[in-house]
Amino acid sequence: MTWTPTRDDYPAYLTANYNPQSVIPVRGQGSRLWDQADNEYIDFAGGIAVNALGHAHPALVDALKSQSETLWHLSNVYTNEPAIKLARRLTETTFADKVFFSNSGGEANEAAFKLARRYAYDRFGEHKDKIVSFNQSFHGRTWFTVSVGGQEKYTQGFGPVPGGIEHATYNDLDSAAALIDNNTCAVVVEPIQGEGGVTSAQADFLAGLRQLCDDHDALLVFDEVQSGMGRTGHLFAYMAYGVTPDILTSAKALGCGFPIGATLIADRVAEVFVVGTHGSTFGGNPLATTVALTALETINSNEVLNGVSKRHALFRAELEAINDKHDCFADIRGMGLLIGAELKGSFEQRGREVLAAAINNGLMLLIAGPNVLRFTPSLIISEADIREGMAQLDRALDQISA
Ligand SMILES: *Cc1c(COP(=O)(O)O)cnc(C)c1O
Repeated sequence: MTWTPTRDDYPAYLTANYNPQSVIPVRGQGSRLWDQADNEYIDFAGGIAVNALGHAHPALVDALKSQSETLWHLSNVYTNEPAIKLARRLTETTFADKVFFSNSGGEANEAAFKLARRYAYDRFGEHKDKIVSFNQSFHGRTWFTVSVGGQEKYTQGFGPVPGGIEHATYNDLDSAAALIDNNTCAVVVEPIQGEGGVTSAQADFLAGLRQLCDDHDALLVFDEVQSGMGRTGHLFAYMAYGVTPDILTSAKALGCGFPIGATLIADRVAEVFVVGTHGSTFGGNPLATTVALTALETINSNEVLNGVSKRHALFRAELEAINDKHDCFADIRGMGLLIGAELKGSFEQRGREVLAAAINNGLMLLIAGPNVLRFTPSLIISEADIREGMAQLDRALDQISA
């Protein structure tokens, strides 16, 4: 029996915590997708900053195919070659000395926060448990990560909230300095807030946090789940800023669509994760680490990384042209291919409408909150696809104005 599900079938079988668009894409190639009726879409979303090499990239397909015929899973009672190979490359290409693998950004952060608490506990004592984070930040949907995150709507109704977490104002160093003291074990920050509206940190803000952490023996944790893996034109955004964290979390584009999370750690901190302190059944899974190693080698090349700034410039020019015509954006911001366009005037707060109109015109977009259009395409999207997608966005805005 064959059965072709539609969007109408969704609420019968899935929980209602998402509200997806009605089209159901069934295949993708590069920055294009096709739905059940074979309608074509340009992809400016890339999952949510996940498909950094587009859909069905041949190197990733080959890697997954050959690993899938070899070994799917062991467990951390044993070890596997792909996990060691990926960890080695991640430490060679970043500040980190050690890696802990998991399956998602939330889990990578959960590990980072537990590790920071444990480090302070072992080295300084039980009193040093405070985590300082920022308003509007997003770190995942586990209970610890929503609590560290700075958006109250995600903890509401799930209380009691874990203690020892305080929130400062992003890009306001004084507000962070007022909270960071000798009881602080970690300061957690996204170099670019993605979900919070695509807001980049100012360089002196991150440098100031580094100094405050050093002054108070606190660990600096960069959540690069969204900003990492080439999205800024650097392998990780910290490299663009020249500020090095003690712990960095990666997921999303790390597997380019295969689920994986990684917590990258400096040696002196990693030491406290001794046998039994933390774990994950699927962490380091051979399928995931094989795909991620191929993704890392492909993204971490001059060709891909240098191409990001060229594409950023084209996105910006096209968005500015749209703004000249529609007078719709209060701000166009972000770095590399993590770009936000804040809506204004008659479009204010209408992001979800723009998203729906865009898909009707053959364009897949994202929003970051109700008032910011978000663009997180493949790092290797073609110039022609960018121009065509922007023409579709232009038509979508025409229809909304009409
Ligand atoms: C998406 C995201 C997460 C959560 O990742 P999941 O894989 O959904 O758990 C955490 N931090 C940031 C900055 C993100 O953008």
